[in-house]
Amino acid sequence: MGKHKFKTEVSQLLDLIIHSLYSHKEIFLRELISNSSDALDKLKYLTLTDDAFKKFDFKPRIDISFDKQAKTLTVVDTGIGMDDKDLITNLGTIANSGTKSFLHNIKDASKIDTNLIGQFGVGFYSIFMVAEKVEVQSKKAGQDKAFKWLSDGKGGFVIEETERKPIGTSVTLFLTEEGLQYANRWEIENIVKKYSNHIPFPIYLHYQEEKEKDKKENKVDQINSASALWKRPKAELKEKDYFEFYKTISHDTEDPLHYIHTQAEGALQYTTLFFIPGRAPFDLFYSDYKPGVKLYVKRVFITDDEKELLPPYLRFVKGVIDSDDLPLNVSREMLQQNRVLVNIKSASVKKILSELSKLTLDKTKYIKFYEEFKKPLKEGLYQDFTNRETLLDLVRFKSTKQEGYTSLSEYKLRMKPDQKSIYYITGGNEQNLKNSPLLEMYKEKDIEVLIMDDEIDEIVIPSINKYKEIDLKAVNRENAAEDLKTEKDKTAEKQAEPLIKRIKKILDKDVKDVKASSRLSDSPSCVVADENDPTIQMQHIMKAMGQKELPELKPILEINPTHDIVKKMAALEDENLFKDISRLLLEQALLVEGVPLKNPSEFIKRLNKIMNMAL
Ligand code: ADP
Repeated sequence: MGKHKFKTEVSQLLDLIIHSLYSHKEIFLRELISNSSDALDKLKYLTLTDDAFKKFDFKPRIDISFDKQAKTLTVVDTGIGMDDKDLITNLGTIANSGTKSFLHNIKDASKIDTNLIGQFGVGFYSIFMVAEKVEVQSKKAGQDKAFKWLSDGKGGFVIEETERKPIGTSVTLFLTEEGLQYANRWEIENIVKKYSNHIPFPIYLHYQEEKEKDKKENKVDQINSASALWKRPKAELKEKDYFEFYKTISHDTEDPLHYIHTQAEGALQYTTLFFIPGRAPFDLFYSDYKPGVKLYVKRVFITDDEKELLPPYLRFVKGVIDSDDLPLNVSREMLQQNRVLVNIKSASVKKILSELSKLTLDKTKYIKFYEEFKKPLKEGLYQDFTNRETLLDLVRFKSTKQEGYTSLSEYKLRMKPDQKSIYYITGGNEQNLKNSPLLEMYKEKDIEVLIMDDEIDEIVIPSINKYKEIDLKAVNRENAAEDLKTEKDKTAEKQAEPLIKRIKKILDKDVKDVKASSRLSDSPSCVVADENDPTIQMQHIMKAMGQKELPELKPILEINPTHDIVKKMAALEDENLFKDISRLLLEQALLVEGVPLKNPSEFIKRLNKIMNMAL
């Protein structure tokens, strides 16, 4: 009871809302209605599962009224309500740590994308875009006392006990001059139709109609359709209906990229409605992301906080699963292993992936999708063995032969008749990779190499050995070039053996091995990783990520026996010069792969010495 201060992050959020988010002011109403709808869901669930509430006379509804003179707008629900403790924690702090860290990372509030507002759960606080003061009255189901919460959105709020008969919550906004436009029948009706039409409870609008001069009549209309959209026959539904519904469940103000509606009537009866958003949600890579799928049992809301309804790599999918075969009081622990849900889950994953496969036919649309969601899809490659084949056909890569993206199956079609493997190079940066000396041989032989410049590729791709029976080989690994060697290459390598031995003696401490290589043409040397070690770039990433314990993994140095420098080295008698050149061969190979040298000043000394000799 009494005065309270907002937690720092709430003040921060309020500041952000008031000073920078001007474009979608109207969403305050969507946020209030969606809170009311959640509160109704919770009480409905109690009346169906909890003996103490079975006799409760539950009439779920949301009522909106306004008063232009008094400059107020009120939203009332008959939901679960809040007591004093709830009011303090729910309306005075921010529970979601994703939102917290998001706020923490905002440097310039004026640059933030207003579309994110709903996504990161501004929720209730969005009212301060249109109100200078708010009064919340609430009575929690099963309790006698009611409470009042008052705030001007500046420093804090006040809580007092109050008189209130019905269970539920009423939120009254005292509108600012600008906010006054929302104290209007048509305005409210439009916003509700746009964002909240498919909220499964009736929303009533109270207004006055002028009958004759100076005679006004009080009226009430239901202004939403209040149906569970996913249960309506597919033939009745238009794209527009789906898009509207998406906005009511996702907080997204933009249309989704795709929707997938399934009404299964077989051994298992269930309905699923999934949406692929147009853009990746801001918390996609937070470990406590908000799951996008809500679970219903026979239209009764069960949970929106169950991460295992779909596999983690599909966490960007939004939507609804509604099962007829689960008991209403299915417990959280049971959800995870429930056979019905396991079956729905695996059928849903297959369905979503097969829809994505169809989407690939529309290249522009698919690439738009892929650019947003390529990382989670690739996570799927190592999370989901059952669907790996399908996922392999969904991933796209850059290539030395194609502009933009290519699929593995397109690569396969372009393979040379005698080509045995699919080749790829992984590493940090597309341009560096394309210029890598490791690609010289492939260029010369006109063989395509996939350019994998996404960090996750380093981690995921090595775990995939084959695509449709064809080996995948990393060109920055030792054995990749084995199957491309000609007889001539082999002879040249053999002849270089004494020279290689000499170089190896010098570099012994810094490399795992020195080998003659036929994969180079313009460069005298290159470094590769041992077949079982992480690649050179990967080791670098791991170090950058703070893995100090990493044992020092030495590279393998490969020497091009047909290169002029190497040929001349064979005849070189000056032992000191030979040492310097050997070191330079290693150092330049490291540099071109973007690996910093351990001792740059030694490198410069050597380089200057050789320059001096050449002049
Ligand atoms: P979110 O809805 O994303 O959790 P909000 O800021 O909109 O964030 O609301 C915070 C919390 O306040 C809600 O999670 C809910 O517990 C509570 N709340 C808000 N409005 C209501 C309401 N009308 N009835 C009951 N609880 C509510």
